[in-house]
This record gives sequence, structure tokens and C-alpha cells, in this order.
Amino acid sequence: MPDQADIEADFVVVGAGSAGCVMAARLSEDPSTRVVLLEAGGEDRNRWIHIPLGYGKTFADASVNWCYEAEPDPGANGRRIFWPRGKVLGGSSSINGMVYIRGQHEDFDLWRQLGNTGWSSSDVLPYFKRSQHQTRGVSEFHSTGGPLCVSDITERHPICEAFIRGAMEVGYPRNDDFNGERQDGVGYHQTTTRNGKRCSTAVGYLHPVRTRSNLRVVTGALAEKVLFEGKRAVGVAFREYGQPRIVRATREVILCGGAVNSPQLLLLSGVGPEDELAQFGIPVVHHLRGVGKALQDHYSAPIKLKCRFPITVNDVMQSNIRKLKVGLQYYLFRSGPLTLAAGPAAVFVRTRRELATPDVKISVAPFSSDKLQDGLHPWSGFALTVYQLRPESRGEIRLKSANPADAPAMFPNYLATETDRRAIVDGLKIARQILATSPMQHFITEEYQPGPSITSDDQLLEHARNRGGTVFHPTSSCKMGIDPMAVVDPELRVHGLDGLRVVDASIMPTVISGNTNAATIMIGEKAADLVRQPLRMAA
Ligand SMILES: Cc1cc2nc3c(=O)[nH]c(=O)nc-3n(C[C@H](O)[C@H](O)[C@H](O)COP(=O)(O)OP(=O)(O)OC[C@H]3O[C@@H](n4cnc5c(N)ncnc54)[C@H](O)[C@@H]3O)c2cc1C
Repeated sequence: MPDQADIEADFVVVGAGSAGCVMAARLSEDPSTRVVLLEAGGEDRNRWIHIPLGYGKTFADASVNWCYEAEPDPGANGRRIFWPRGKVLGGSSSINGMVYIRGQHEDFDLWRQLGNTGWSSSDVLPYFKRSQHQTRGVSEFHSTGGPLCVSDITERHPICEAFIRGAMEVGYPRNDDFNGERQDGVGYHQTTTRNGKRCSTAVGYLHPVRTRSNLRVVTGALAEKVLFEGKRAVGVAFREYGQPRIVRATREVILCGGAVNSPQLLLLSGVGPEDELAQFGIPVVHHLRGVGKALQDHYSAPIKLKCRFPITVNDVMQSNIRKLKVGLQYYLFRSGPLTLAAGPAAVFVRTRRELATPDVKISVAPFSSDKLQDGLHPWSGFALTVYQLRPESRGEIRLKSANPADAPAMFPNYLATETDRRAIVDGLKIARQILATSPMQHFITEEYQPGPSITSDDQLLEHARNRGGTVFHPTSSCKMGIDPMAVVDPELRVHGLDGLRVVDASIMPTVISGNTNAATIMIGEKAADLVRQPLRMAA
């Protein structure tokens, strides 16, 4: 089949998201290496992508977003949870909340303990640093000169300030660098922004190298199937704005479609559990039990508050004059509410004394909504979001049909274990302790949700099930490992096949304790080295 290929390259990278842009940029650094990058979405020209608060505008915009919905989930009382994923250059890094969190050192040490040589915290730190341009300058944990700009939040909102003071009153230490020595404590996030604009991986990695003659970026290109000769991946069949095309890969096919789409593409290509493939009449290339199976995600529960003063983003959105003012403030000075990331400040806490590291994150945002896709509340409001950092629950991604244009089925399986249920309830109680402090009470007229009548553990759990949602961190659906359910090995090669890797958030053996963009970019940086290693050895 690839004999009739329309295009040929050494490497075909599928998906220009957080990891895919890193792979394409790094592999094409060698001018003799030809790289083709296929992206189902389009160019990142939508202006709301680049304005940080525009996050709310792209959240459910199907022109840049897959706008998935998970299957009805028992953990969420049978509700379908909205799962936005980026479908545009930069992938989810073009529509995410821009919070820069790497996870805990212990997360990566656990990956190593699970048999993943080369992925301990000391192994991965150089790749976090390689990716980074830290505006604070160089330190033991940070570096400058990398493509991903990491900046301090300039907009110190009074509600965030009160949250920090309140958490400190409860006893949590101030932490000005969640990505340093330790994660515990309260403070402001840093964000993946540069001079008040989003720094996606398309902005940081891809656009600066688009003129390389050995790099070809094809947008509007939906990969439908990996093509094999025997057990070797040799190309990809895709549709470019609807037209069928084939690209041949002389060295490797690298899947960077993310935690939903990489397992889907493997299954469509005949790589996965043979009984599932048989249901859809897909010929088996390689029976691999774990494809789609070890899915993890961060499930969150909100506390929404009515604010005493008209200082929230909700208030800005209610007034055309204020909107105009903040628009001007942004365009003239790159400051003001439009520079805000999803949750500017947060506290990392331990819900049980015996824990070695935080197990819950509580973040605060100076706005509130019932559903972000339906707009902000028409009254002054703000919200806390509580989520467990290391859930035990695992779900799965399965095919719904053999048609690549159909979304796969996402079964998150939230709150399936007692530890997970306990953590979210205890996290909500800690959040309320912070809200009860005088700095926070100064701003609160009323707890809108769950509301003062909800007090028992059972009621709080029910609130979490009824009102909770994802914080958009699906991972681990093609997990790395050496056990029978692993999909890729520690060099990210698909077990049992040649010329095929998966490089994205789906390979995380366990979801990390925090937001997942930075770690996915780190995975891309490390994978580029793993791919280039044989070349270096031969040189
Ligand atoms: C709304 C939202 C808010 C978030 N907030 C934060 C945050 O504040 N901080 C943080 O650290 N993380 C955040 N995340 C999570 C983080 O952005 C993701 O974990 C990370 O971007 C995942 O990277 P990836 O490379 O695995 O996948 P993605 O970045 O999603 O990239 C996958 C790419 O592959 C493309 N693709 C998929 N299938 C195909 C196909 N068949 N053919 C061609 N192309 C295909 C997609 O269109 C997409 O561009 C957020 C995510 C979302 C959606």
C-alpha cells in the first residue's frame, strides 16, 4: 500500500499537540531528517487561543476543539462529563488553562519503580529544564532559553490574595514555586505564557521552525490508520480535508494524538485486544490487551460562592463598559483580567497525616459558572475546585465504530475506589476551612454550591457526584511499562511491533500529581532523544 504513497518522510508524527509539536520541532533539527506532521485540526489563528482568558471562549468551540463527551459515568451519578480536547495546531496546549505544574518528584520515581528505566525524577528533570524558558531565571529546578515560556501571574486578584492568606491562617505554608523542592503549600501558579499571551507548543516549538524545508505540516489531516508490512509500521493513511492520502514513513510512525485519540488510532489500525477488534471487523495486526485500558483522569468537585463586591470576572462580563476597559488594558499594557489563567492560585494539601506528599489540590478562580460552556453566572461569584491528585480509579477508551470520523467511547470510571471518594470529601472539608477564615469571609455573602445544608460526608460525596467534572487530564490509556497491560516500553515503542511509538499523555504509567501539560512536553523532549539515540551511537 505505501508504494502508492503521496508523501514520504523519515518520521511521520500524528497529532500536533503538546507532545507532537515538540517531536516535530526536535526531530527536524537535523536537516537531513524529513518529518511530516499530520494534524486533524487547523491553524491556530483563532485570536481567543492567544489571549489567556480566551480559554473560556475556546472551551466548547468545535472549530478548535473535539468537544467530546464521556459515556454516562456511575461515579458522576450517570452524567456524561464534557471532555474538551484541542483540535488545532498546539492541540490541548492551545485551549488549556495554562497552569504550569510538573507534578511531584515522587510521581516519576514511582514510574521508575514500576520498571520504567530512565524515567525517575532525576532522569526527567533535564527534559523539563530543556523545554523551559523560566522568566525568573536559572535555578536548580529551572532553566532559561527553552521554547516553553513560563511566567509569573501579574494579575494579583483580591480573591486570590484572600485565598492565600486564608490557607496560611489554616496552617498551610506559603509556596512560591510548586515546581521546586516541594509541592506543599499555597501560592500563585506560574503559567505557560509570554508577555501576557499564551505559549502553546505551536507557538513555542512549531511556528519558529515552520520554514524548515525538511518539515512538512499538514493541517486538516485526520489519520485513519497506521499501515503495516508484517509487524512493521510503514506509513499512515489519512484524509486531508476529506481526500484520502497516504504518507510513507521510512523510519518511524510516532503517535501523538493524546489520551483519547492515540488508543483509538491503534485500535482502528488493528492493534489492541483481539476480541474488541473482532466486534468491529478490524483485522488483527497485533493482539495487545492494554490498548485504551489504564485510563486515568482527575475528577474535581466545586465550591461556588457569591461575592460581596462586584470585582469578579462575572461582573466584568456583565458590563460592556468594563469589557471595553479590560480589552484596552490588555491591548495597551498586556495586563488585567484578560491575562488570567484558569485558576491563578492554589493550595496543595495532604488529607491524611500519614501521607508523604500532598494528595489534593484546591485552586481558586475569580469567576464562577454552572457550566463554563454556558457562560459565567450573571452575579458576582467565584469558585474553588478540589481534586485528588493520585486517583486509583482507572477507566478505558474503546471504539464505538470502525469509522475513524466517529468519536471513541470514553469510560472514565470516576470515584470507583474508597480512597478516591474519601480524598474528594476530605478535600472539600479542607476547602471549607479555608473559606471560613476572615480573609475569605470578607468576600463571601453565601455559599451557592454545595450550600450550607450540605454537611455530612455522604452529602458532600453526593455533591461531588452530581456537580463534579474533569479538570481535563486524561492520561495512561497507552501506558508505558513492562507488565502485560503496558502498551509501550520505556523507550515508548509499541510492544511487539517495529517502527511505531506513542509519545503523548497516554503513555503516563500513572497520572501525575498535578496538571499534565508540562509533563507531556517533557515526554516529547525525552522521546526525541530516545528516537535520536541510535543515530548518535552510529555517528
Ligand atoms: C480545557 C483544558 C484545560 C486544561 N488545562 C490545563 C492546565 O491549565 N495546565 C496543564 O498543565 N494542563 C492542562 N490541560 C491538560 C493538557 O493540556 C493536556 O494534558 C496536554 O495538552 C495533552 O497533550 P497531548 O500531546 O497528549 O495531547 P493534545 O495536546 O490533545 O494533542 C493531540 C493532538 O492530536 C490531534 N489528533 C488527534 N487525533 C488525530 C488524528 N487521528 N489525526 C491527526 N491528528 C489527530 C489533535 O487534534 C491534537 O491536536 C488542559 C486540557 C484541556 C482540554
